[in-house]
Amino acid sequence: MSDPKVSPRVILSTRGVSKRFPGVQALSDVSLDVRKGEIHAVMGENGAGKSTLMKILAGVYIPDDGQIFLDDRVVRLENPLKALQLGISLINQELNIAGNISVAENVFMGSELGRFGLARRAEMRRRTREVLDLLGAPFAAETRAGLLSIAEKQQIEIARALVHNSRVIIMDEPTAALSENETEKLFTLVDSLRSQGIAIVYISHRINEILKIADRVSVLRDGRYIGTLEGSEIESEAIVRMMVGRTLTDFYQHRVSTEKTEGFFRVEDFSDGKKVRNVSFSAAAGEILGIAGLVGSGRTEFARMVFGADRRLRGEVYLDGRKISINSPKDAIRHGIGYVPEDRKSQGLFLEMSSHDNITMNVIGTTSRAGLIAGRRNNAITSQAIEQLNIRLASPRTRAVSLSGGNQQKLLLARWLQIAPKVLILDEPTRGVDVGAKSEIYKLIGEIAMRKVAVIFISSELPEVVGIAQRVLVMREGALVADLKGENIDQETIIAYATGVREAQAAFAAKTGR
Ligand code: ADP
Ligand code: MG
Repeated sequence: MSDPKVSPRVILSTRGVSKRFPGVQALSDVSLDVRKGEIHAVMGENGAGKSTLMKILAGVYIPDDGQIFLDDRVVRLENPLKALQLGISLINQELNIAGNISVAENVFMGSELGRFGLARRAEMRRRTREVLDLLGAPFAAETRAGLLSIAEKQQIEIARALVHNSRVIIMDEPTAALSENETEKLFTLVDSLRSQGIAIVYISHRINEILKIADRVSVLRDGRYIGTLEGSEIESEAIVRMMVGRTLTDFYQHRVSTEKTEGFFRVEDFSDGKKVRNVSFSAAAGEILGIAGLVGSGRTEFARMVFGADRRLRGEVYLDGRKISINSPKDAIRHGIGYVPEDRKSQGLFLEMSSHDNITMNVIGTTSRAGLIAGRRNNAITSQAIEQLNIRLASPRTRAVSLSGGNQQKLLLARWLQIAPKVLILDEPTRGVDVGAKSEIYKLIGEIAMRKVAVIFISSELPEVVGIAQRVLVMREGALVADLKGENIDQETIIAYATGVREAQAAFAAKTGR
């Protein structure tokens, strides 16, 4: 026998696996090896193909091309039961648990033993109990599954894998719905499964989890296998680089406008009598102006007032040297002020509408005069936007709801670009967006600013504020407390102002004369 340390035993592998869905090549030519007794993390951005690959390994999808080897023999995983019988289990993010039957019945659901009489039922319960003990599960085989928490239901699925003697257990984002505490417990469990020689294929977005538990990390990008890291190679920068295909220093690369018109957009003495107090500032055309602050500091309330979405008590707006009147979003749009809200799903996007309609919504009024021609023109607008913003979708008719977070955000940006805004307010534009799309959005924001737009960039993520803004205003308890430029923009300074530490220091210094 070969020494497992010298040549770790591969139990499951894919060779040249490809899978296409209508309009998307989900996987292209993927070859991956899974070894006995390892925790093998599979990483990649949203849409990279991770779940598709896992479903192929678990017999849910049949690949269009390529082969799957189990113990060096080609296997055909025609359906999930076949995969389970061969020792491969998939634990999906959407758990496969029936709430109205017992834990034991769930464990044996769909397998041979489940179908027989009383004696079998006793056997089912006994074996379930055995496995639950092994897992240290805090519930009984007879418990109705519907009464259990998500973490506990996940344990039922692991129990199911174990009673079927699974040698490979695939977990697709298992911690997404778990608390920190439950996550820790899962890690302990996964660790003990590994020491029994079981291979765990573990999918997660959370780099910290991966650094903690993975023996090896494979990365997929755009449906392709990029590579596998092991041992000391496993570190976050390398993983991110593989995931996004560029280095972190390129991450905030965007063009910076050198030609700015100072005082282009000016807001004076904005107050709502509650969350926003006497806010005044000006933004230059061509400038990316960051607004940082803690959650609840009043940034969103302020932005909504500027856009006319909420009423203000006081406050005036000047654009290009003229005072303008803004009392509704319609006024704002007419003057060229755009706003991409924080909560794009409930406030910005029309999820059930097509991507095309979402993009062209604001231009319909100006282009629909001549029916057909307008239709064609709008189609051209959409195709141009899709190309320019690199929006990934099957077709312009794809509904917004089915796009990833990053692509949804791009739809909103595309919509505002159609009105050629003079001022564009972006409220947390990269929230819930994966790293690759983030970097594209930064680049896009840079390009928008280059068109002499004053871009107001509200974000709670300090690294990105520091990375892309040329000037940063800090808001605290509804008031602006700092206006930072150039060298002075760094995370520590922003935090000191956002939390009030800086004022406290200044007050102390003034009092003590230090
Ligand atoms: P990941 O799990 O890495 O986020 P997926 O494997 O879910 O990625 O998706 C890969 C690509 O395949 C995406 O573009 C996704 O939209 C597409 N896709 C996945 N499942 C289906 C399906 N059942 N029908 C059509 N397209 C799909
Ligand atoms: Mg997935």
